[in-house]
Amino acid sequence: VAQSEEGKTYLIGTDITFAPFEFQRDGKYIGIDMDLMAAIAQDQGFKYEIRPLGFNAALQALQANQIDGMIAGMSITDERKQTFDFSEPYYESGVVMAVGQKNDTIKGYEDLRGQRVAVKTGTEGYSFASSIKDKYGFTLVPFDDSAQMYQEVTSGNSVACFDDYPVIAYAIQQGLQLKTVTEKEKGAPYGFAVNKGRNTELMQKFNTGLANLKANGQYDSIVAKYLGSST
Ligand code: GLN
Repeated sequence: VAQSEEGKTYLIGTDITFAPFEFQRDGKYIGIDMDLMAAIAQDQGFKYEIRPLGFNAALQALQANQIDGMIAGMSITDERKQTFDFSEPYYESGVVMAVGQKNDTIKGYEDLRGQRVAVKTGTEGYSFASSIKDKYGFTLVPFDDSAQMYQEVTSGNSVACFDDYPVIAYAIQQGLQLKTVTEKEKGAPYGFAVNKGRNTELMQKFNTGLANLKANGQYDSIVAKYLGSST
């Protein structure tokens, strides 16, 4: 008989700043991921603690079994599926390029030649930019979090960055001086992750809780709380 996990407090890694999914307000972490985690834990009756490690650091901590799970706007990519087990998808996403709001020279990837492009270590945006950098002849400048990466572009040190479109759109709507000039790239949806073959009980609870939240309207109200009830 497997040892009961009842009473266990799961450690859940997340990003430092990735609004509207996780971000700090008044010293507290809020956002769609944070509210989903709280609602699912309540629905399923388990305890957890959030560890805002940063995206790449959380990936590594999960792989090293230093944390039990991870919720961080994490894309369910085929490559990651070899290392992690994912929940059912809970949010559609994908990568888009952003440039400075007043920039009128970068209109597409072909305008990136010879330029610096900011990326975030360990992300799908990084992988995408890396996959086209030789073709378009630009240089990657890596950062650990999205705020630093955006700052690199608004300050003019780099001409563009790549990040998830729901996150860039939210930041622009909040007043960040960036704009998008290209179509978004097809990307993978977000999922909750555990290390492969581990914490299967936690994963089951997450999936059951998520399904319950979708059925009872809580999922929709959490998303609407941060994004408004759009169509
Ligand atoms: N969705 C992207 C990924 O999984 C970025 C996640 C993030 O930066 N928090 O790579």
